[in-house]
Amino acid sequence: FDDRDGLIWLDGAFVPWREARLHVLTHGLHYGGGVFEGMRVYGGRIFRLAEHSRRLAASARELGFALPFEPAELDRAAEELVERAGIADGYVRPVAWRGSEQLSVSGAGTSVHVAVAAWEWPNVFSSAAQERGIALGTSKWRRPAPDTAPVRAKAASLYNICTLARDAAEADGYDDALLLDYRGYLAEATGANLFLVVDGALHTPLADVFLDGITRQTVIALAGEAGIAVHEGHLPPEALERAQEVFLTGTAYEVQPVRAVDGRPYEVGPVTRALADAYARLVRGAL
Ligand code: PMP
Repeated sequence: FDDRDGLIWLDGAFVPWREARLHVLTHGLHYGGGVFEGMRVYGGRIFRLAEHSRRLAASARELGFALPFEPAELDRAAEELVERAGIADGYVRPVAWRGSEQLSVSGAGTSVHVAVAAWEWPNVFSSAAQERGIALGTSKWRRPAPDTAPVRAKAASLYNICTLARDAAEADGYDDALLLDYRGYLAEATGANLFLVVDGALHTPLADVFLDGITRQTVIALAGEAGIAVHEGHLPPEALERAQEVFLTGTAYEVQPVRAVDGRPYEVGPVTRALADAYARLVRGAL
């Protein structure tokens, strides 16, 4: 991904894509002192930009560091990148990390760096996957307890779990992994939140030990507008046995139907379709 034309915003300046490098003795690389965001561009506009910038700053605070840029500066950097690259439908990746001043595990004395990259990226899953749904397999990896890891932050270190789970799921022939939390309740996929449809109502895991996705919040609001009941709570895996439809939500996944979990089939049904359509209208209609 590093060998491309274009620009990346790095610590306040636009630099050529290939030159946006850092030192091998970077604290963020050794000890996972990094946080990031992912945003989508629709028709040249970044969806929910301010919410994502706020979450980046909040994630950094959870890891004990402050961003050296105001949210408005980062917003402007992202918007300018999208404009300069002429991106119509794409993705924006802000990232912040502790630098290379010292290599003790202590964060004291490290500078904080921020970069923003953006690229054209119309669809994460193929349109066939969007139509048919994707297959999930339950992972042996779990979301940790809130006194074990900064579980509410979009912290790079937590994505070890996602990479391990995703790679194992793909090796087993699934598209993505479904993770339980440390208590054994349903949690989320590797980059998206989980919804079940039971008799026309939405049931979604309470976001107490994983990222309360901006798409998740948006879809809950859209369901409210459509008169669809939403229940948030601790869901045991057996809740999957009562569901007629299952879908995932995320900036990259949007509203992604699930066709099977561990081989148990689900329909790409009317509630999933209605919410996927409403979401597609919102992200484009908000232009
Ligand atoms: N959970 C994880 C682990 C994620 O990486 C993401 C994507 N940011 C989400 C949930 C969904 O969050 P959002 O809707 O804000 O993209």
